[in-house]
Parts: sequence; C-alpha cells; structure tokens
Amino acid sequence: MLPRVSSNLRYLKSLFRQYYSTGCLEEPTYIHKREIGVQLIGEKSYRRHLSFPSMTMLYKFIVENPPLHLYYSSAYYDDPSANDMGAKGWRGSDLLFDIDSDHYEGCNSVITFCLKCGKSFEGSYKKCPRCGSGNVVTYPIIGFDCIKRAYNDALKIKTVLKDDYGLSNIKAYFSGNRGFHVKCFDDNIIDLTGDERRELAMYVSLNGLEPSIVFPPITRRKIVVFTTHEYGIRKRVFETLYDKSLIRRRGLYYEADYDDVLVSISDNKVDIDTVVTMDISRLSRFGGSINGKSGLVVLPVSNELPSSYQDFSPWDGTIVIKPLIDFSGLPVLGNKVSLKTGISLRVKTYIGVYLALKGLARIENIDRVEIRKCMIHS
Ligand SMILES: [Zn+2]
Repeated sequence: MLPRVSSNLRYLKSLFRQYYSTGCLEEPTYIHKREIGVQLIGEKSYRRHLSFPSMTMLYKFIVENPPLHLYYSSAYYDDPSANDMGAKGWRGSDLLFDIDSDHYEGCNSVITFCLKCGKSFEGSYKKCPRCGSGNVVTYPIIGFDCIKRAYNDALKIKTVLKDDYGLSNIKAYFSGNRGFHVKCFDDNIIDLTGDERRELAMYVSLNGLEPSIVFPPITRRKIVVFTTHEYGIRKRVFETLYDKSLIRRRGLYYEADYDDVLVSISDNKVDIDTVVTMDISRLSRFGGSINGKSGLVVLPVSNELPSSYQDFSPWDGTIVIKPLIDFSGLPVLGNKVSLKTGISLRVKTYIGVYLALKGLARIENIDRVEIRKCMIHS
C-alpha cells in the first residue's frame, strides 16, 4: 500500500511544482513586510511566521517545497517572522471581505463517502452511518451558478467601497474553491482598527440595519419618501426600487411602499464573514496560487467571470487516476464522472487533480499534462 500513497503525493508535488516554476504569482506590495504561511503537500500542519525578502526567494522556497496552500498576511509588519504576534510590529493591513457560496440556498449539498464499506450518503457525516468507520470523505457539490452568485456579491462590495467610501485599488478574486475574496489596497484604509473594520463590514453588508430608522415610513400609508438626490444606503435601495419600477414620481419627490423598501434592502444585503474583515492579521491566499482544496487557481476577476471551473485550472491535458470509490455520474466541477474502485481512468487533468485532492482517487500517471500560460497579469 505504502508506495502507492507516496506516488500519489509525488505526482501532486510535481504538478504543483511545475506550475509554480512558471512564476505565476501576483506580487503583493511590500512582500518583505508580510508574514507568509504555507501548508506543504504531505504535511498536516501549517508553517507560519515565514518571511521572504523578495519574490525570487519565495519562488525558490515553493519550487523546492510545493505548498498545498500559500498565504500572505493582509498586515504589514516591521518583523514579519517574529513568532509572537505582538512582537511583529504591526504597521497596517489591507481590507478583506470573504464571500462563501455555501451560504446560498441550493449551494451547500454534500455527499459523504465511506472508503471502508464503499457506501455513500447524502449529507455530512464524521463516521459512516452504515459501518461506523471514520475513514470517510465529505464531498461538496457546488454548481458554477453558486460561484456566479458569489461574484455578484463581490461586485456589490466593490461598488459600495468605491461609491460610498471613495476608495480605489479594489480587486475581486475567485478563491479557488467556492467563493470570492474582495481586497482593498487603498492607502486610506491601512490603519483602520478591527472595530472600525467591523463598522465598515456592517455598512457594506447591511447586516444589523434598522430599516425604520434609515427609511422612516409615513405611518398611516406605510409609504417611504425619497428625494431626487439620495446618497449611501438610501441611494442603493432607491436604485433597486427604480430598476424594478416600484417607485412613483410625485412632483419633486418619489415614494415607494414600505414593504417594497424592505425587499429592496434584502436584495442589497451581502452575506460576508465579518470576522474576516475585522481581523487585522489575517492570512489570505496569494493571487495566482493554487487552492489545495480544489486544484484551481486564485484569480482576480475584473471584467467578466469565466464561464466554467475549467477556466481556473492551471493545467491542460489529461491524467490517469485510480478511483477509491464506486459512483456513477458524480458531479465534478460541472462534469459528471463515473468511478469504479481500482479501475484506472484517464480524465482531464483538473478533474483528476480535484478527485485526488478530495481523497476519492489516486493519481497514477501525469505524462500528458500541460501547464497553462500565466493567468495573472500584474
Ligand atoms: Zn462504511
């Protein structure tokens, strides 16, 4: 058994190494002031408090030790490699927002596979409901439409940061797995405290908004009045009402039903993880790095979202895998794949790598893999 396990890891390392050898990472500003964190392929724990004086030195490290996950701190430090957070000398942080598509309805289904008895179950289990084995794999099913919804929410955040706060230098990144990150590198936000960032997150997400204070209804008729020059949250809601033709012109002002205003507020809400935004020493994924949960690349998306998961793969060509489960028509990154335990199968590289990273297959041959050209243009 042992040689087979290690050959799977050896192939994964080789694939990641070949990709990182092309130098496709997005360089963060002040790389020498960032804490770098990695989880190497084949290692269980993370290595934190690393620092590199230049991208060249970072590439040297990751080509020798290909990471499953590669992060840099949103923070800038005097001494990023100090083990104690207090001793690092915090100088400021980029502003982060995290959008996870598993919060959306219909985007959180999971299959649990038991690798011992071979049965599969809808839902997430820590132990096999049939044989009790802990040797189980939980496998999420996320349609690409879920990624589209996360992207739309990322765009909403970008718009608010730009229009309401006047910030610039904002980028939305596909997380490489099932969501989006929004990063703002504007000089005006780098010294904000965690509490200030929480206030900002609440304003952007509209969570905790008391509608009757911002949109006081005229009591008896349950009508909200808008002027022709609204700003901030009221402008956002006004525009939604306008687009849906739910607002009526009344001479010098507009009016809308309070119930419609409530629905428009919901339409403008963004489900973000406030804890991420508040955390001024958060590690976040490098643009251009491979997300080791999926084998897809963390990519900035500026204009149009690519049409499928395959567009985020660092590899073309095919590989041979040996499945560890039986399953007919398993959804894999927008494809249906039929797997038979122990029967080798040639599949597109991104599909095979995904199954291997999830623990449902082992890689047996990578001779026909091609590395794609850099997808980052920084
Ligand atoms: Zn079982």
